[in-house]
Amino acid sequence: MKHILSLSRRELAQTDLPGQPFRRKQLYHWFHEKQVLDYEQMTNLPKDLIEFLKAEHPLPAISVARALTAEDGTKKLLFALGDDYAEAVIMEYRYGSSLCLSTQIGCRMGCTFCASTIHGLVRNITAEEMIMMLYLANDYSSGRIGRLVLMGSGEPLENLDEVLTFLHRIVSEDGYNMSARHISLSSCGLPEGIRRLAKEELPITLALSLHAPNDALRRQIMPIAKAYTIREVLAACDEYIAQTGRRVTIEYALIEGFNDGAQQARELSQLIQGKLYHVNLIPVNPIKERQFTPPDRERLKEFKNLLEADRIHVTIRRELGSEIAASCGQLRNQAIELKMNAGG
Ligand code: SF4
Repeated sequence: MKHILSLSRRELAQTDLPGQPFRRKQLYHWFHEKQVLDYEQMTNLPKDLIEFLKAEHPLPAISVARALTAEDGTKKLLFALGDDYAEAVIMEYRYGSSLCLSTQIGCRMGCTFCASTIHGLVRNITAEEMIMMLYLANDYSSGRIGRLVLMGSGEPLENLDEVLTFLHRIVSEDGYNMSARHISLSSCGLPEGIRRLAKEELPITLALSLHAPNDALRRQIMPIAKAYTIREVLAACDEYIAQTGRRVTIEYALIEGFNDGAQQARELSQLIQGKLYHVNLIPVNPIKERQFTPPDRERLKEFKNLLEADRIHVTIRRELGSEIAASCGQLRNQAIELKMNAGG
């Protein structure tokens, strides 16, 4: 059953909350138009309804445990969710504030370059928790958060029911009203989940974490590649493009001496040439638990040039806030270590 915070206006209107029907409209308005997450602050609701809501529909206990700001304005938030943590990053751009949000606490996918998976999967994050994190993050951004990337900890397609409830809620015109076109979902490539997402009529951008241009190389860094070949994953992405008309982004983390050579650039090009894909190159983020290093600027540019020579649209992701451990999973791991060192 959905939590009261995750209900649409219509679903909320159909609940059997005590009081006049217009109270349900007021409640929806407080939640999703005003982003008020404390029943006591809903000043036009009667006291007995507030007491009922507090007792029967408590909101998840979420708070910001740490907030760090980098020199470039990037902010890293560590949310306390019960007895664990989830991370989010606010990126400030010329065109507005963007939030990178986690969909799971930890992750079980085991990608070797990623800090989020080091302690495994703890649990899925619920739709109402994601809604609360988005609304709370607005207190830390320079303006209203108008863009969202589901690229923090976790594999969103493994938690698709909750992710879809969350997305439908925040794109709703009578609520937070974020444009679906300003939302990206990043996946390591689960074909069934991609196909299900394609049927949702949510024109969001799908980003595929590919990171290697052939199965043998991909299996060395991404265990999911043992379950699905690149061909199978790209077939699902092709269907996503056909169904939504949206371009798919290929995320490619460049690791020095591993996947950053001319041969790999050519192989990558052959996979997607002539199709509606865009490549986002990411110099791999060094994390202390692993020994990957990013290539130098020259090599990065060479790789980009080779793709562009084949008329592939390529961007290089801006490195944001690396001095505050802005890569997904790093801040939570620090918090877990601190807790363990303190005997918590
Ligand atoms: S890259 Fe994504 S899917 Fe892979 S381990 Fe990290 S969070 Fe999980």
